[in-house]
Amino acid sequence: MTVLLVALTSCDNLATELADPNAHLPPCVEQNCDCGDFVSQDLAQLVLDDYSGDPYNLDGDGNGRACERLPQTTPELDWETYFSNSPHLALGNPSHAGPDNIDNYLIDREQYALAYSQSHGVLRWASWVLNRDWVGNTERQNNFRPDGILPKGTYQVVPGDYTNSGYDRGHMVPSADRTASERDNSSTFLMTNILPQTADNNRGPWKELESYCRDLIYQQDKTLYIIGGVYGQRQPIAQDRLIPPSRTWKVVVIFDGEPTVDQVSYSTETIAVDMPNDTGLDERWQTYQTSIDRIELATGYDLLSEVPEAVQTELEARRSNY
Ligand code: MN
Ligand code: MN
Repeated sequence: MTVLLVALTSCDNLATELADPNAHLPPCVEQNCDCGDFVSQDLAQLVLDDYSGDPYNLDGDGNGRACERLPQTTPELDWETYFSNSPHLALGNPSHAGPDNIDNYLIDREQYALAYSQSHGVLRWASWVLNRDWVGNTERQNNFRPDGILPKGTYQVVPGDYTNSGYDRGHMVPSADRTASERDNSSTFLMTNILPQTADNNRGPWKELESYCRDLIYQQDKTLYIIGGVYGQRQPIAQDRLIPPSRTWKVVVIFDGEPTVDQVSYSTETIAVDMPNDTGLDERWQTYQTSIDRIELATGYDLLSEVPEAVQTELEARRSNY
C-alpha cells in the first residue's frame, strides 16, 4: 500500500507543520466510525487495533475481529486505465474506471467524467473542471432522468427510486457549476450524477463547500479541478437497487491558470474533506477537513495519479487547513 508509505516518509518536510496523528487511519475516526464506513475488513481492523475498548463498537462478538461481514480486501478494480483527452481526467482516473466493468464504469462526458457502480446504483466518483467558462445565466433545469448512456440491458435508476426514501436527490457535479448552457446544466440531472444524500449533508457543509468553490472562481478568478466521491454503505433503498453511501468526500485542486499536471507544484493549494452521509452534521465544511492520503486509504483509489510522484506525495500528506 503506497498510501501507508506516503504517511510515514513525508514527516520531515512541510507536512510536519500540519502533521496528522491519524494519518494512518480513515477519516471516520474523527466523527464516529461504524462498519458501514469501511470498504474492507482490513481497514476496520486497523481502527479496532488502534482504539482500545472498541469505542466504535466494531467488534460485536468480542473476538478481536472487526466488522467480520466485510470483504477482507478491497474488491479488485480494473487494471488498465482508459485513455481519454478529457480535461476532467487530466489529473488521473482514480479507480481506473473504463468501459468494461459495470461496477466501475466510466462515463466520459463533455461536462464531467464519472465512475458509476451498477451494483450500488450510485457513482463512485466524478471529476470536473470549474472556472468562469462553465458558469453563466442558465436556469436550473430540474430534469432529473435516467441515464441512457449505460450499456443496454442495465437497470437505469429513475427519479422515483428516491421517492419516500428519506434521502435527497443530491448532485455530485452541482447544477450551479454548469450554467453556461441548457445542455450543460441538463447533464447534471442525469441520475448517474445523483446520490442518495441526507438533507443534513447535502444542505449543510456539503453545500457550503460548493458555494466556497464558486466564490473562488467568481471572486478570485481561480480554476478548480474537483474530484468528489462516496464510499461505505447504509441500508439499501428502492427494493435494494440503491445502496446509499455512508460517507461523501471531495478534493479540490486550486489553479491560477490551466488545470493541467504541468501546473501542479509543491505550493499548489488543495482542499480535502470527508463527511458522514448522516444526520447531525456541523454546518461548517471546514470541520470535515482531512488529507488526500486518508481519502485514498478509505476508498482504495489513487487520486492525482498523473501528478509526478514526489509532488503527489507532498500534497497528499498535508492536512487540508482552511
Ligand atoms: Mn447538493
Ligand atoms: Mn495519489
